[in-house]
Formats: sequence, C-alpha cells, structure tokens
Amino acid sequence: MNPLERELHYPFGDELPEPGSTMEVAPGVRWVRMVLPFALNHINLWLVRDEIDGRQGWSVVDCCISREEARTQWEQVFETQLQGLPILRVIVTHMHPDHIGLADWMCTRWNAPLWISATDYNVARVLVSMGDNAAGGEAAADFFVAHGLSDPDSIAKIRARTSYYANMVPSVPRNYVRMMDGDEFPIGGRMWRCISGYGHAPEHISLYCEELNVLLGGDMMLPRISSNVSVHAGETESNPLRLFLQSLRRFNELPATVLGLPAHGKPFTGVHTRVRQLEDHHRDHLAALMEACSQRALTAAEALPVLFKRELDLHQMTFAMGETVAHLHYLWFAGKLRRNLGEDGVYRFGLPGQA
Ligand SMILES: [Zn+2]
Repeated sequence: MNPLERELHYPFGDELPEPGSTMEVAPGVRWVRMVLPFALNHINLWLVRDEIDGRQGWSVVDCCISREEARTQWEQVFETQLQGLPILRVIVTHMHPDHIGLADWMCTRWNAPLWISATDYNVARVLVSMGDNAAGGEAAADFFVAHGLSDPDSIAKIRARTSYYANMVPSVPRNYVRMMDGDEFPIGGRMWRCISGYGHAPEHISLYCEELNVLLGGDMMLPRISSNVSVHAGETESNPLRLFLQSLRRFNELPATVLGLPAHGKPFTGVHTRVRQLEDHHRDHLAALMEACSQRALTAAEALPVLFKRELDLHQMTFAMGETVAHLHYLWFAGKLRRNLGEDGVYRFGLPGQA
C-alpha cells in the first residue's frame, strides 16, 4: 500500500471475489473481478439486483474485453451467482475496451439493452466500423512524431498496430439507451443518478445511489492509480486535463462517507480525500513540467521522463506520451507555456517569450 492509500479506507480489506464468483459490497450490489492481460491486470465489474417491467433480474455494470477467458468467467457467474435470474440491462460507463468489449455479446446473450452515454456509444461504433484503421496506425504514428518521438523502431511498431480497438471490441450493439448527466433511473427500486465525467473518455458516466450511499465510479474515481488523461491522435488540439480536473470536483458534492466502487483497485471510502490527492498529483506534474520547460523549450517526448521515471514498454509509452501532451496542453491553454512548431515539424513547449 502506498502512503496515499493509507489516507483511504478499504472496508473489505484485502478480500477479493473469486474468479467466476461474486462478493456482495452493498445490499443488492455484487462485485465481479476479472483478469486483464495488461500491466493493469484486472477490472471490477458489478451486478446490481434489478426489476424491469415486472421482471426480476440483474443489471450489469461494465463487461471486460472480448476474450474467451472473460466469457467463460461470465458464464460461471451467470450459472452460479444470479439466483437463476436473467441479466436485464447492460450498463457501460465508457467506451474503453475493458468496459465495453463484451457488451454486444452480453446484450445478445440476454436480449438486454445497452445503457451508455451517446458520445461513448458513437465513438465506439465508429472505431469498430473503422476496423483496422481504428486506433494506432498512421494517425497515431504521425501524432507521436509531431510530439518528438524519433525512435524508428517504435514509430514502425505504432504504424503497424492497426486493429488495437477492434481486437478487444469486435462489435457493439445496434442500438442503445442514452444516459446523460443528471438523469435518474431506478435499479431494483432504488434511484441512481448519472454523473458525467470528461478527460478520461469522451463522456464517462458514473452512477450514484443516495439510498445506498454508493458510487459506481468507473475509471473516473480510482483509489490507487490515476486515470489516464491523454491527448489522442483523433483530437490533437484538446485539453483533457482541464476537463478531467473539472469533472473530479463533482465528486466533492457527494457525501464524504460514500462507498466508492472503482473499475480498478478495491472498494474504498475517502472519495473527497482521493479528489484532493489527484488534484495534488496533477498539480505536481504541471509544476515539474513548468520547471523543465523553463530551462529550454521541450518536445513531449523530451518532457516525458519528467513525469514517468520508470522503464516503459511501447504500450505504456504511448499512454505516457498522450498524458504528457495533456499536461503540456493544459499549461499551453492556460497561457503558461507557448507552443512552437519547428521546421522539423515537431512541437516544442517553452516559456512565452523564450527563444
Ligand atoms: Zn477507461
């Protein structure tokens, strides 16, 4: 446990649900945990006891990436954990593969509707329909080169990495039910409220139930790691860190005692503390970048080691590049750094007035 985690409270300690099983974390709310084949090695998914149109069953929140192991684990859960009842609704917090990957399979398997924000639904649909050109590929390589990536081997690998999204998200349902900020709807007779969040995904929806004092925080409110906040090749001029920090503050409106159910890590209390920790984390990153860029104008690739000191594989490096650009953009949009496009076609960030 890192020092910051000691400021949070984990009411279930180190207890985790067994693979293929579930653990009750609040009345009618059950925790499913699945392995992911990445550095981020697991995801939390949730079952909420539900009743829709007089039918008893469950709503599921998030689905895992599409792969055989996950489908097998879900089948075990269906067989042993649902009390013989069906899945009635599939709620997806956002369009990242570990959340939406199996949504189409799940919706088809149970003839259940998908609930998601319009933005994330449509982005997922576009990426799936683009197939081999969805993520990675030419656009990503060009974006990283414009931000100073120069290692030919890495550039070639990114250029060749074409079916990244489609591999984990083979399809999405043909229709959906839209969730929007402030919407309230019942799950199993208790009201839940949608809280939109930006900067991590296009339009992430967290769900809060006042009666249970539970927050299904998805990737917006994680206890141990900080959510990835990146500028992407598809939207190169964005300022996602400003959006993320604005969105974080919304969680301070919830009771300090709320039980946070995150997509990664363990259920925790101390959401307000976590908001402050994440604000501090990004403020420290911004200060370190200001310091580094005040010596001389830097590319994102040059600035990256200021924020990420450990060894990164290619996959982690692309995330770290996106995140470094996000921090540089925050400072640039705030007028604290100036962006210059060099004759080499590479962006550098330096102090305004700096040569
Ligand atoms: Zn995510």
